[in-house]
Amino acid sequence: MNTDHPILRIKNVQKYFPIYGGVFYRHVGDVHAVDGVSFEVRQGETLGIVGESGCGKSTLGKAILHLHAPTAGHIEFEGLNLEGLSGKPLRKIRKEMQMIFQDPMESLNPRMSVGSILEEPFIIHKGEHEFDSYEKRKKEILRILEEVGLPESAFDRYPHEFSGGQRQRIGIARAIALKPKLIVCDEPVSALDVSVQSQVLNLMVRLQKEMNLTYLFIAHNLSVVKYIADRICVMYLGRVVEDAASQSLYKKPMHPYTQALISAIPEPNPSLKKEKQVLEGDVPSPINPPSGCHFHPRCPYAQEKCKEETPALCPVDGNQSHRVACHFAEEIFAKAAQKTAD
Ligand code: SF4
Repeated sequence: MNTDHPILRIKNVQKYFPIYGGVFYRHVGDVHAVDGVSFEVRQGETLGIVGESGCGKSTLGKAILHLHAPTAGHIEFEGLNLEGLSGKPLRKIRKEMQMIFQDPMESLNPRMSVGSILEEPFIIHKGEHEFDSYEKRKKEILRILEEVGLPESAFDRYPHEFSGGQRQRIGIARAIALKPKLIVCDEPVSALDVSVQSQVLNLMVRLQKEMNLTYLFIAHNLSVVKYIADRICVMYLGRVVEDAASQSLYKKPMHPYTQALISAIPEPNPSLKKEKQVLEGDVPSPINPPSGCHFHPRCPYAQEKCKEETPALCPVDGNQSHRVACHFAEEIFAKAAQKTAD
């Protein structure tokens, strides 16, 4: 159930990682991983966060969960400001906010059986749920295994005995064990074969409906989020460059970077012609990001103004639910639309 109630609000969140060097090991700079990101996520909604590697999307996910404390900015979960939270209050919030990682093999302890892995969250959050005996916890874990499509026999087995897709199901089982409200999914299907990807995505969609989960779904391309996201934020070098409802973003991509990402989605119908926009160069270093619009060194439409002024995230045609950060968005969209028509 998608409601109008924002479960998560983030405002101007920054996460910088200091760099130390030289003979005296002084602070010589910062990695600007996340540079002033703001958005809201409504309960039951899936917000896709998309961008190339190094754009700060995973760091943003971890900052929201307070796995990395943000350098600046405001994060509010269910109306509660998370700034400065620690100890028991933070642990209580963590129960409501879980994470699914890209590589389950790295996030699952190979020395622990699946039963022990899934029992761990119940032990960490002892006293905050009704599963206060081993028998009750085991019964609940067997129910969760069934829920994610794994057999009861998985309880006594170890992560290496499972395929990649099954291991991700274990990761999902651990994330949903305590019935959270928000799950940050950090590229949960990128390491899986395409055929397995759709099975895992179907499972996530089903669990979302059954448990009214809110997802923050991080991905490096738009083809995966197209399937699952209600809204999408496109990130480039630590900033959001476009933010829109999925349909609106695919129908009317305003930012040249979004247009390039959309052009890279494979077209299943070979009779439909699609021109792929290849971006020149790599994503610049987040240690010393380009001035003005961070995208200007790679943007085919860049002008002098782009090097000097940072474009603000502004509504498209006065529509607050579609925003873009580009000085020349309207002209660029018109040119792109003309090209497609030709
Ligand atoms: Fe390109 Fe300039 Fe728009 Fe940035 S502001 S995306 S450089 S046209």
